[in-house]
Amino acid sequence: QRSEVHYFGAGPAPLPTPVLEEASKVLLNYNDSGIGLTEISHRSPEANAILAHTQSGLQRLLDIPESDGPDGYQILFLQGGGSGEFSAVVYHMVAIWLGGVAKKKQQGLDQEAARLRLDYFVTGSWSLKASQEAARLVGSEHVNIVTDARKYHDGKFGVIPSQDSWTQTKSKDDIALTYYCDNETVDGVEFPCAPEGQNLIADMSSNFLSRPVDIRKHAVIFGGAQKNVGTTGITIAIVSNRILPPHAEMADPALLRKMGLPIGPVVLNWPTIAKNNSLYNTLPIFDVWIAGQVMQRLLDQSPADKSPRMATQEAESNRKADLLYSVLDAHSTVYNVVPDKSVRSRMNLCFRVNGGNAEAEKAFLKGAESRNLMGLKGHRSVGGIRISNYNAVPVEAAEKLASYLEDFAKTQ
Ligand code: PMP
Repeated sequence: QRSEVHYFGAGPAPLPTPVLEEASKVLLNYNDSGIGLTEISHRSPEANAILAHTQSGLQRLLDIPESDGPDGYQILFLQGGGSGEFSAVVYHMVAIWLGGVAKKKQQGLDQEAARLRLDYFVTGSWSLKASQEAARLVGSEHVNIVTDARKYHDGKFGVIPSQDSWTQTKSKDDIALTYYCDNETVDGVEFPCAPEGQNLIADMSSNFLSRPVDIRKHAVIFGGAQKNVGTTGITIAIVSNRILPPHAEMADPALLRKMGLPIGPVVLNWPTIAKNNSLYNTLPIFDVWIAGQVMQRLLDQSPADKSPRMATQEAESNRKADLLYSVLDAHSTVYNVVPDKSVRSRMNLCFRVNGGNAEAEKAFLKGAESRNLMGLKGHRSVGGIRISNYNAVPVEAAEKLASYLEDFAKTQ
């Protein structure tokens, strides 16, 4: 029985039951048409209405500036997951950077291209992967690691080193992008607030819609939908008009080719997707519908006169995370939280049992499952226990887990 199980998986992750109940109906018969939602054309009026509803929901929740001018943002739906965007950010920002350089200089472009830098904050497994993809695409000589958090924490992720140790590229003209992962799903590290950086790109896959975001600080924010927003299959990108034509000059593919810089597939090309309102190719509109329903629930719980709209969900996320961390801390001889207190994620709570004792961790998971508390095993790359505390995890589930944590600690 679904109602008896509490699931803390890291992604794909729980969705609100009422959304899934409605989803099971629209899969068979959408809007009384006799046709199911996965069967209709992505170019039908119904699909367009779904797309507009989800875009407007996100726009209102995150207060995304709307305009065709340089201050506006586009809300795009793509495929290829968060990992697809690791590549898309490189393709796009390098093309913008080279376009800017070529506009200023017609001569000596080879020397100029050697100055290209992509700045990466490496604070966990996902930003590490993103930086590796950048190095694969443009060469590691162009990738500048602003910080590698492992160097400050016994070779493991778990801190965000202090700003005075960051080595951001000095010359702003050389920086194509500054990249960070707002919440590291595997390592349980979350930025308390966005760092400063030129052409700031954020991966918010695992803390999307869990707190207000300073959109204007960012060139791009992206995230896979399968954790806080919806089903696996779509990726959301919020892209500033400043880095899209006609506000930004993009290098021609011929010039990129000449400079030995990469040219991405068209399905990851933000200007193409933006120009076609996310309908360049077949968009899984069912996934867009699910995300729209999840957003509508967040809007309903947080009226328009309440500002920011994400404050209600943020308070709930904090409450659940505080409850769980307080029990973990109260039994610190049994539970060892992996990341430093200052950067603990509200979404993915990572800890070891009895210093990582394999038997104890196995017993912990077994005991949890016997109480129908599921999905608590840490990521295979790091082991341990991970509680994913996404929006659809009810307060009641966090409370049940907290009492299990108490009870298990007493047996140790
Ligand atoms: N970024 C983060 C923070 C993630 O947690 C994940 C997936 N868990 C990804 C990127 C990769 O997403 P995908 O599997 O959709 O490519």
